Amino acid sequence: MMPESSSSKKTPEGGRRAVSGSEFAGRTVLLVDDDPAQVQHVREGLGTQGYRFREAHDGAQALSAIREHRPDLILMDVEMPGLGGVEVCRIIKANSGEGGFGFIPVILMTARQAAGKVEGLELGADDYLVKPFDMLELGARVKSMLRLKALQDALVEKNRELDRANKELARKREELLALSRTDPLTGLSNRRYFEERLSEEFARARRYRSPLSLVMLDIDYFKRINDTFGHPFGDEVLRAVSQVARARLREVDLLARYGGEELIALLPETGPADALRACERVREAIEALQLDYHALDGGTRAVRCTASLGVASIPSSSLQSIEDLLRAADECLYSAKGAGRNRVRQHEE
Ligand code: GH3
Ligand code: MG
Ligand code: MG
Ligand code: MG
Repeated sequence: MMPESSSSKKTPEGGRRAVSGSEFAGRTVLLVDDDPAQVQHVREGLGTQGYRFREAHDGAQALSAIREHRPDLILMDVEMPGLGGVEVCRIIKANSGEGGFGFIPVILMTARQAAGKVEGLELGADDYLVKPFDMLELGARVKSMLRLKALQDALVEKNRELDRANKELARKREELLALSRTDPLTGLSNRRYFEERLSEEFARARRYRSPLSLVMLDIDYFKRINDTFGHPFGDEVLRAVSQVARARLREVDLLARYGGEELIALLPETGPADALRACERVREAIEALQLDYHALDGGTRAVRCTASLGVASIPSSSLQSIEDLLRAADECLYSAKGAGRNRVRQHEE
């Protein structure tokens, strides 16, 4: 390969700056021919356009030059010793995907007469010139191929932009969806999403006769916490209780904020015994929770709270609908409150 000779200069950003009037000045044209006189002839013919020329003198050199210089256009002799122009062209076109060379137009040059013309185009060349050719014609073909290449590049770039925009949109959509399912205070799922999932899980459990448990949890004497320490501290307690409950459940269990200081949990594939154990774990963890209240006078008070829980499970002969299940868990919660709070009550068959 011979060193670069070019009538354009690289800008500081590495872009191309035209020095002649040609629309495609600075574009890289790879000339491939085993005859140096022919290469020189073509260079002279295209000399005034400001193209950046690279040269290769056989097929193998051509392939490494393509890899190294990523030319915008290849002008290539068909008859070369070793790897001929048609074979090289086939290789280029076979590697025109995103991960390969991309699209590079190829103009084949041959001394052979008209019969080869069809062959060249069928084998993937974009254009074809029969030697000896007219320099004006060469110039026009080169320009039209460079135009094609520019359009193709713009298309690829637009596609990439579109791809990026689509991915961004999909990400935003996911984000919005997650947000629409989340309770802002606790970060738990919200009631609407819970109800959606409940009806799915209920139907699924019925269809496959698999167990499903539903838990309702209500913080005890929460009003007193608000009244004593203020509403913002009440919020803090609510967040802490939510986190603790979340941490004591399995990944597949759905925990949501059902109302003010009321949480609800759905435990798929969980029968009464396991559900009761899960509720006890949550209750104990809330009881063990301690939050520091910083008073305005600089003093600190350790604040603790408890919660009451009601749990019901299907399959159960008395619970035939979602409403039955919700009502049963709620009644158990009410009974836990009535029995003195800080306890779990379970629905019996
Ligand atoms: P019980 O043991 O019977 O459940 O007593 P309780 O005081 O928890 O029950 P009650 O329903 O009387 O009070 C619930 C309180 O929860 C009243 C309401 O102001 C408070 N609350 C509801 N939502 C929020 C909230 O988002 N933040 C705060 N800080 N308080 C809330
Ligand atoms: Mg030749
Ligand atoms: Mg309460
Ligand atoms: Mg309540």
